Amino acid sequence: MMNIPDSSNPRVVIIGGGFAGVAIAQKLKNKAFQVVLLDKHNYHNFQPLMYQVATGGLESGSIAYPMRKIIKEHREAFFRMTLVEQIDTENKKVITDIGTIYYDYLVIATGSTNNYFGNKEIEKNSMVMKTIPEALNLRSLILENFELALQTNDMNERKALMNFVIVGAGPTGVELAGALAEMKNAVFPKDYPDLDISMMEINLVQGSDNILDAMSKKSSKAAEKFLKDLGVKIHLKTIVTNYDGKKIETKGGLSFDTHAVIWSAGVKGAPIEGMPQTLDRASRIRVNEFNQVEGFTDVFALGDVAAMYGEKYQYGHPMMAQPAIQQGNLLAENLERLTKKQSLKKFIYNDKGSMATIGRNKAVVDLPKLHFNGVFAWFVWMFVHLFSLIGFKNKTLVFWSWVYNYFVFDRESRVIIRPYRKNRDIKPQDN
Ligand SMILES: Cc1cc2nc3c(=O)[nH]c(=O)nc-3n(C[C@H](O)[C@H](O)[C@H](O)COP(=O)(O)OP(=O)(O)OC[C@H]3O[C@@H](n4cnc5c(N)ncnc54)[C@H](O)[C@@H]3O)c2cc1C
Repeated sequence: MMNIPDSSNPRVVIIGGGFAGVAIAQKLKNKAFQVVLLDKHNYHNFQPLMYQVATGGLESGSIAYPMRKIIKEHREAFFRMTLVEQIDTENKKVITDIGTIYYDYLVIATGSTNNYFGNKEIEKNSMVMKTIPEALNLRSLILENFELALQTNDMNERKALMNFVIVGAGPTGVELAGALAEMKNAVFPKDYPDLDISMMEINLVQGSDNILDAMSKKSSKAAEKFLKDLGVKIHLKTIVTNYDGKKIETKGGLSFDTHAVIWSAGVKGAPIEGMPQTLDRASRIRVNEFNQVEGFTDVFALGDVAAMYGEKYQYGHPMMAQPAIQQGNLLAENLERLTKKQSLKKFIYNDKGSMATIGRNKAVVDLPKLHFNGVFAWFVWMFVHLFSLIGFKNKTLVFWSWVYNYFVFDRESRVIIRPYRKNRDIKPQDN
């Protein structure tokens, strides 16, 4: 049972406490609405720093923030930890695994999920990093592979255990490759003195002819050089066709034996059952410039799951934190306008730029009119990420971990807390 009391205020049900859902929930604080926030996790996940959890640089708790704390001081807000299963727009209700809830306004902010482009083998055998449990699985797998490498005298097997293949060279793939390369150079030689660490390979595979191809050419080239200097092997114009858990194959005939393939080659919207007619080719829900789902005035979609086509963004906005936050903020304002029968404000994306870090003293930053890289870009990257984290405690934890790791060349959290069993039949259906 949901057990949400009736209210004289209109009820806004928000599905998803990611960047978009949290932004609108925070903006609706103490406004004339009853806010009900639903999420399958009881914490907000700061996804941009997940690769650092996967590579032992940060504890998972420092990028997770309790959902209940976010709405703690709100007059009429409720959080329920639940998996939303279906939406019934005809009867204005949301069906979840703990019961049904009726809404006056519905906000779908369910984010995205991994896109394997229909390849079941790759889905079954590769690692992904959309959730904190998945980042912890990856951390365990990396470390377990090294433990196993020590236990075998078969050199081909050892090489395969020490070969990490990352598919997709967007920010996630690039940041992960850089972090693994730093572990190879600074951490693993000390941890495994009886292993020949030069056998470790980090292969970054990219389908197009540039890494970070949503960024400027200058940033893309600089990031490529940073990665190569760190020892990462980059394979451009290379399409992965299969991975059976042991061998990864590509269209051009290139193949590697590897026990760790990390898939960061695609995402698609994560819509909820009940509104299939409005999906675009990336499974995103088509919305108008007010984030209203096509055909509705009381149902909205925000962030990664929303596709707002426009002149500048022909296929919708980039699936990044800023569009999600900005849409959430504006929708809070528009809901108030709607109840006051005022005209709604159109969403105009304020592109503040994008960035990626490759490692210590190495980052690339694209601002609307300026592109730069190197040490200063790295400080900008750190400042922006620290500033964007929710909560003083998390900011402090991350800051001190970075200071410590910087001076000691360490990754304190390289521990196998929850062993990961590769190739188990059931994968966590978690996104
Ligand atoms: C590894 C990684 C690194 C990234 N790095 C960057 C970066 O550096 N910069 C940047 O701008 N963007 C980055 N992104 C993208 C950014 O995180 C997303 O664009 C952003 O999170 C989108 O916000 P959202 O609110 O739409 O969705 P999300 O933040 O994904 O939130 C969706 C929420 O909905 C919940 N949910 C989903 N389905 C259900 C359901 N059925 N029932 C209940 N709850 C549900 C989920 O648990 C989640 O809390 C990164 C993403 C990843 C995965």
